[in-house]
Amino acid sequence: MNGLISYGEPPAYFLYRSLAVLGVPHATTTRHFEAISSPSEKAPPFRADAAATLRRLGLDSERLTYARQVHGAAIATAPTRGGFAGAVDVLVTRERALPLAIFTADCLAIVACDVGAPALVVAHVGWRGTVRGAAEAAVKALGDAGGRPEQAVVTIAPSIGPCCYEVDDPVITVLRKSYPDLWERWVRAADPGHFMLDLWSANEELLVRAGIAADRIENPRVCTACHPELLYSYRKGNRGRLVTVAALP
Ligand SMILES: [Zn+2]
Repeated sequence: MNGLISYGEPPAYFLYRSLAVLGVPHATTTRHFEAISSPSEKAPPFRADAAATLRRLGLDSERLTYARQVHGAAIATAPTRGGFAGAVDVLVTRERALPLAIFTADCLAIVACDVGAPALVVAHVGWRGTVRGAAEAAVKALGDAGGRPEQAVVTIAPSIGPCCYEVDDPVITVLRKSYPDLWERWVRAADPGHFMLDLWSANEELLVRAGIAADRIENPRVCTACHPELLYSYRKGNRGRLVTVAALP
């Protein structure tokens, strides 16, 4: 699907070419990866039967690091033992083999990785995260951890596309306030008072503005709402969660 490497029939997870070529252990699960419980502070979000699949991918679920995602732009450094990292939307590590996870169902899961540093960041970004600067926070976190933004490879997981993401005036008002020079590029008028919002273009542009090289962003532009047979979409009422996990090699 659009350049993603898929595993299983139907696919249980995807890999990204730009991370695979660097040997970065990672995956984005589909709705056919049936071993996820909802994330909470108390229990790790993967059920025991997911561990074997993750281990085959080089991801140690015992050290899986996750957050209570709150649609913000706050950053947490992953605890070296893994586990719960706090109420944040950006996780960063310099530790090798420490898997960082983001849970989504329409929002963007962004992975930014400079294997040479090494430094790894994952971020959860919806429209609120976009207006609050989560993409810029992710690049700052990478830089603060010793990563070089211009050297980093960035991936954007399947998420809701401009084909399906209709928003109304209140969202546009906040977007306009946050990005007065840019917002019009990301919005197309739909019915009166309604707009189609392109969070992909918005966050790609914000990542580049923060220092990421445009040609190092891999966005397969796969829309969660267009693929109910494969993905979860909150907007479409398919309310499970996709998980994007990555670790430094
Ligand atoms: Zn769509």
